[in-house]
Amino acid sequence: MPHPPPSPRTRARRLAYKAAYDRDTIHAILDAMPVAHIGHIVDGFPVVTPTLQWREGDRVYWHGSSASRMQKRAAGEEVCLTVTLTDGMVLARSGLEHSVNYRSVMVFGRAELVEGAAAKEAHLRTMMEQLFPGRWESLRPITAQELKATRILSLPLTEASAKIGAGPPTDPPEDRAWPVWAGVLPIRLTMGPPEPAPDLAPGIPTPDHARTYRIG
Ligand SMILES: Cc1cc2nc3c(=O)[nH]c(=O)nc-3n(C[C@H](O)[C@H](O)[C@H](O)COP(=O)(O)OP(=O)(O)OC[C@H]3O[C@@H](n4cnc5c(N)ncnc54)[C@H](O)[C@@H]3O)c2cc1C
Repeated sequence: MPHPPPSPRTRARRLAYKAAYDRDTIHAILDAMPVAHIGHIVDGFPVVTPTLQWREGDRVYWHGSSASRMQKRAAGEEVCLTVTLTDGMVLARSGLEHSVNYRSVMVFGRAELVEGAAAKEAHLRTMMEQLFPGRWESLRPITAQELKATRILSLPLTEASAKIGAGPPTDPPEDRAWPVWAGVLPIRLTMGPPEPAPDLAPGIPTPDHARTYRIG
């Protein structure tokens, strides 16, 4: 039995068969792509800001400078967060049937500010440890000033939807004999070899998390 949408505004209407609302699907997409876009209204007009996101249980978090417009204006306000992975370009026999294979998540809710230096430090540590396990402990410790200059916002995943497009082109039967190539051009995110900082002190080995980091 598929999970129902958690609220009217999360119910997919267009190509609803591609939508999913279960926690496992939503978590997997958020965990596969650290880049999110946060949409919110600033001075009456929409602003969509790309930023890093991370998930802790059933909440999604993002951080930024205390001076950033997104951090200052989004706190306590309704926002919409999206995360997208593009998995392939779908080439069909007609222009309008071309599409994209993708995995995406959309989350609605009121952005909540994380209060207190200890809580902020704990969330930043979690972000770092999820991205690069073992790295936080090896870093120059964060300062009180850095914590003050950082704000963290979060959203519960209570009003979240996923949408997944996958598979070959779906041309109507009457188009399938048209003599043009059709199929999928897969898109893969690949990591290059680590590039040491030009001013890296000699003798510092490349950590495992720099070799094994993957997204997608
Ligand atoms: C990489 C990529 C490329 C796309 N290209 C196109 C395109 O070229 N043309 C096009 O029409 N659509 C495209 N889509 C799909 C697009 O995101 C919308 O799903 C679609 O346009 C329907 O929009 P709507 O506002 O009518 O959705 P509705 O069905 O009215 O949306 C209702 C609710 O469904 C959920 N929902 C809708 N879309 C998504 C989503 N993508 N991810 C998670 N939840 C969702 C949300 O909760 C939303 O509030 C693309 C998606 C991705 C990820």
